Amino acid sequence: MNEFELIARYFTRPSRERQGVGDDCALIDVGDRTIAITCDMLIEQRHFFSDVDPESLGHKALAVNLSDLAAAGATPRCFLLALALPRADGDWLAAFSGGLFALAGQFGCELVGGDTTRAPDWQQTAGPLTICITAIGDAAPGQTLTRAGARPGDELWVSGALGDAALALALAAGGANAERPDRMSAFARLERPTPRVRLGEQLRGLATAAIDVSDGLLGDLGHIGERSQVGARLRWADVPLSAALRRQPAPLQRRCALAGGDDYELLFSAPPGRRAQVAAAGRAAGVAVTRIGEVVAGPGIVVLDADGRNMETPYSSFDHFET
Ligand code: ADP
Ligand code: MG
Repeated sequence: MNEFELIARYFTRPSRERQGVGDDCALIDVGDRTIAITCDMLIEQRHFFSDVDPESLGHKALAVNLSDLAAAGATPRCFLLALALPRADGDWLAAFSGGLFALAGQFGCELVGGDTTRAPDWQQTAGPLTICITAIGDAAPGQTLTRAGARPGDELWVSGALGDAALALALAAGGANAERPDRMSAFARLERPTPRVRLGEQLRGLATAAIDVSDGLLGDLGHIGERSQVGARLRWADVPLSAALRRQPAPLQRRCALAGGDDYELLFSAPPGRRAQVAAAGRAAGVAVTRIGEVVAGPGIVVLDADGRNMETPYSSFDHFET
């Protein structure tokens, strides 16, 4: 049973809301607004290294949630913070909250509540440090984005560049080498992702479907495919890669960009007649947007190489319970 089968089998019920389980945010109509709500948890040694810089961790804990709001086209409003802390270390907490509030301030997203407990001591080791944020945003009704709605013929776009977070993990694991500037830029992408909130807002009424790339391009495109009941054709040569990733061996480039998680870029579909508007949305949001393929009828994702041949993509995307 994988993570998504588990959620589908035990935690999915019919919902009267605009969007329940199964998308980046729950969407709830309240008065004349649609409220978007998402909840993401970060656990020490599963989502981050124990020695991670606390200021970056504060940033990332909120960033991954704001990224889900971005995927829903929602404007961040406020968030709740639940912490299970192994210990109360003033310096650590000052740095963590500094990173958290710096990002919150950038988007006018206020901390409005939460919960704080001590993590259990287990055989003399306290932990793990667990951070759970619930973020709340809003939009006008009918303006929010979901993973459903991609139609055959729509074009597929992605923001920024893909694969740098996975490159950082490969560097940390010793599975890759890079010069210091490339290491620094890859780790910055892993530890301080930029949630594409402004782009999500610009894509309201423009994108037909959207998701944030948290589990890997192929896996997350698969989620759009499932919810929209479509397939996709990607052109590998068009997938945007950073200069640092382009300096890596070709097989690692492919694995990082197609299957690496934690990039928090937006992947979205839009009708072919809206190219100019999508480009303008990217400019307004201050982020590159790149056309990487098309939505097709029928299930499955095909990746074409530079010569237009089907590429082998023997990767699985991230899954917490994969067996
Ligand atoms: P994301 O990557 O956007 O954070 P996830 O992959 O974590 O989304 O989760 C997939 C979907 O399943 C989301 O709609 C999420 O809200 C929902 N979900 C995950 N865990 C649970 C749970 N325990 N109960 C109900 N819904 C859940
Ligand atoms: Mg998401």
